[in-house]
Amino acid sequence: MYDLHAHSNYSDGILRPQAVVSRAKTQGVTALALTDHDTLGGLAEARQEALVQGIELIAGIEFSCLWNGIGIHVVGLQVDPDSRVMQEAVTSQHQARERRAETIAAKLEKAGIAGALDGARQVAGEGAVLGRPHFAKFLVAEGHCKSINAAFKRYLGAGKPGDVKQLWPSVGEAVDWIRAAGGIAVLAHPDKYKMTRTKLGRLLQEFVEAGGEAMEVVSGQQSPNTTRDMALIANRFELYASCGSDFHVPDQPWQELGGYSPLPDNCQPVWQLWSRSGMVAS
Ligand code: MN
Ligand code: MN
Ligand code: MN
Repeated sequence: MYDLHAHSNYSDGILRPQAVVSRAKTQGVTALALTDHDTLGGLAEARQEALVQGIELIAGIEFSCLWNGIGIHVVGLQVDPDSRVMQEAVTSQHQARERRAETIAAKLEKAGIAGALDGARQVAGEGAVLGRPHFAKFLVAEGHCKSINAAFKRYLGAGKPGDVKQLWPSVGEAVDWIRAAGGIAVLAHPDKYKMTRTKLGRLLQEFVEAGGEAMEVVSGQQSPNTTRDMALIANRFELYASCGSDFHVPDQPWQELGGYSPLPDNCQPVWQLWSRSGMVAS
């Protein structure tokens, strides 16, 4: 039971890495990738707990990228967290996130909302990488919006003031980082970008040319149709298939650790590549 996409409170999840790992174990997961947004910070703690729980831990990360004006996520699996390239990539993404957070706060200020940067920092807690969900929680806590969804609809979602993406690296750059760190580049949740098939095909073509090797065929609970469709696309581009929950928060059944249908039989599971990559899972 592989879950190759999960978040801890080192990015926008709410559980500590230790709790993510022990929850994964409880849910029947036997191999877990912690893939926090643009950070490797939670991996050491997760690895320790994985040893305690006797579950395989895969070092992962989820990079934010920009492709033709669209925010795209690329997951790296089996990366060497100590490699210089990874360290530099994380630093560069942190700087991009800091500048982005400042820009979001400035735009919210123009929209009449003061103190968003400090507010989001407080929500995120020390050491966490700032993201839009932290701003959303701040907006709800301050009574500007009724819910996280409402905050995204009004202030943070696509085309809204808080939708600041121009600072992200290209998909090719993220793939390069992952490969240089000995990892496997996986296009995250291709179905979530709401692209036409033609456009998604162009993205995948570029992704493959850049050295991308896999895509998520299963991302959390999804319709059997979507799964079939994604499997066909993966095979068309000769990509390995990954699966994961994209877990952030307990009690969201559609994103629960291990809580999704298995990969279809016609896929080549990405873990067939494990033996090739340099990192040995704990
Ligand atoms: Mn997230
Ligand atoms: Mn994502
Ligand atoms: Mn994710």
